[in-house]
Amino acid sequence: MPFSIEHTVQAVQESIQAAALHVGRDPASVTLVAVTKTVTSEPMREAHAAGVRIFGENRLQEAQQKQQTLSDLKAVSWHFIGQVQRRKIKDIVGAFALIHSVESIAQAREMDGCAKDLGLTQAVLLQVNVSGEETKGGYSVSEVMQALPELDTMMNLSVRGLMTIPPWAEDIESSRPYFCELRELAHTIRQRGYQRISMNDLSMGMSRDFMIAVEEGASIVRVGTALFGSRTR
Ligand SMILES: *Cc1c(COP(=O)(O)O)cnc(C)c1O
Repeated sequence: MPFSIEHTVQAVQESIQAAALHVGRDPASVTLVAVTKTVTSEPMREAHAAGVRIFGENRLQEAQQKQQTLSDLKAVSWHFIGQVQRRKIKDIVGAFALIHSVESIAQAREMDGCAKDLGLTQAVLLQVNVSGEETKGGYSVSEVMQALPELDTMMNLSVRGLMTIPPWAEDIESSRPYFCELRELAHTIRQRGYQRISMNDLSMGMSRDFMIAVEEGASIVRVGTALFGSRTR
């Protein structure tokens, strides 16, 4: 079979369904974010034609260009999945339906302020570094617990859940304990009964390990390579 994005989208969606059914979950409870960093607009159009509705980008400028070029596509939403640079916060807030990668209370405060200025509520996830790996961004588990009371008071941020990126390992099964840990952390937070913070979303799993993530409760998977082929960066 020749490489076609129609086929890769279908294959990924079938794998998500199979993984969900395998553990008795409703496949409709898992949302596919097509990670399109470095991908040009033509393959993105093909993905859209094949049913993709959410594009995930990690660089603001690249995302803005594509939002313009693809503004004719219907029912698309954009998610920001990359590291958030301080000076870009004012342009990121309001331009993405969901920011997956809030990693400090300072960032959250700044986003809340920008959202207030714009008169909107920005939906976000808290990125948690469950492995404690030094090169990865994200809150540590204790930092996220400490940040919650203040996050709960931020009227223009809507915290919807958690995101994580496990360490790369040869054996993809090694991701599983980190996915479990994120799910359990969300459960712990839910039990604290915060007013405004909800823990409905778990963004976890990429091309190699999204099926494991779905088995462990992911509501959002972020898949690039399995849809578009490998990148050079
Ligand atoms: C690039 C990226 C992905 C997608 O990775 P693939 O292995 O290509 O599926 C997912 N999440 C984040 C945060 C990324 O930067």
